[in-house]
Amino acid sequence: GLTGNRGWKPHWRDPAPKQAYDIVIIGGGGHGLATAFYLAKEHGLRNVAVLEKGYFGGGNVGRNTTIVRANYFLPGNSEFYSHSLRLWEGLEQELNYNVMHSQRGLINLFHSDGQRDAFVRRGNAMINQGDDAELLDRDAVRRQLPYLDFDQARFPIHGGLLHRRGGTARHDAVAWGFARAASERGVDLIQNCEVTGIDVENGSVTGVQTSRGAIRARKVAIVTAGRSGQVAALAGLRLPIESHILQAFVTEGLKPVIDNVVSFGMGHFYISQSDKGGLVFGGDLDFYPSYAQRGNLPTKEHVMEAAMTLMPMIGKARVLRSWGGIMDMTPDGSPIIDRSDIGGLYLDCGWCYGGFKAVPGSGFALAHLLATDRPHESAVGLRLNRFRDGIGLMDEEGTGAQHN
Ligand code: FAD
Repeated sequence: GLTGNRGWKPHWRDPAPKQAYDIVIIGGGGHGLATAFYLAKEHGLRNVAVLEKGYFGGGNVGRNTTIVRANYFLPGNSEFYSHSLRLWEGLEQELNYNVMHSQRGLINLFHSDGQRDAFVRRGNAMINQGDDAELLDRDAVRRQLPYLDFDQARFPIHGGLLHRRGGTARHDAVAWGFARAASERGVDLIQNCEVTGIDVENGSVTGVQTSRGAIRARKVAIVTAGRSGQVAALAGLRLPIESHILQAFVTEGLKPVIDNVVSFGMGHFYISQSDKGGLVFGGDLDFYPSYAQRGNLPTKEHVMEAAMTLMPMIGKARVLRSWGGIMDMTPDGSPIIDRSDIGGLYLDCGWCYGGFKAVPGSGFALAHLLATDRPHESAVGLRLNRFRDGIGLMDEEGTGAQHN
């Protein structure tokens, strides 16, 4: 601001699309940009383009509630998110970019003996995976989160599962950081370029049609989050994905009041405080398929009620904004990083509520798959075929809405 915005250099190059690339990535969200970066950095592949129909950061990567954690329970997800969190921990040095990754601790509250048992199991699984978990009793939670309502009779707080390495990051800085680092390594980042067709000949992909002309490619990856079903249909594929809206909310800026990320165990509500002071919170899906990037009132009401039940003090804050993003939901709540049945066509989708924390892990694993045609060891469970043969389904419902 003090420089009057003069002399600022663009963060990344703005090349015209070439006629052909080795690899075309459709979708310039967190996952597409991270894939491009790791292709260049880990595999030396630079003849790569990311095609984005809008602008980088305009999709879910810039719309989420920014929670980063590795507290998944099931094998398949557990090692993947664990690897992703380790990448997060070195990301700012790796990208030379301040993504404001803040490991402020995540506390998942529990409200019954049954929930305590489930969290003990989850905590043990996290520790076995090499991540951290601590069980807090009611008094320990009260010391850390004194603003919660401990006297309410309906859903008394019995304790919480603390994941100290969980936290938040500045969402669009993650997109910008990966974009700058990928561009510096020679990847072409192309905005305002919508893919309108996928060319397939003799069972293999040969390129894409775009709003900026045809582009040939040996390999094409569909990394379009909530639009995955529509984009895959361009190649004649039908994915096990439903697109739903997830809303988020932010209050006016307040002095520091919420130190950690906190999630309610008996309603759909999770919250943290941004570095600007806004309380950032969310709940569950709007629960009907939609491509509208805006939410509806019943869900807003539900989220506000859950917030008031858990922390009545929030009623004094004024909500500044709310918005929605299109979530790519799979039947088992777990993602897909895999080849498709079409030669040279790859899929990275099904991120449900939780794909922000997955950005580095997904980019790393998809880049590995694209470069070597073998799944990365952290992502062997994220197969598309599990929905066809029923083997290896990972029903991770419990790590969805309440935790994000
Ligand atoms: P996007 O940023 O949506 O990228 C996909 C891109 O593809 C878009 O930019 C889109 O324009 C582009 N595209 C689509 N069609 C085409 C086409 N035909 N041609 C070219 N480009 C195309 N995750 C967490 O881990 N923690 C959270 O706290 C969390 N909270 C969330 C809260 C909300 C309200 C929402 C909406 C999501 C939340 N998520 C969270 C989920 C997370 O944001 C997403 O799973 C993740 O961002 C999806 O991957 P992406 O970043 O690549 O998606």
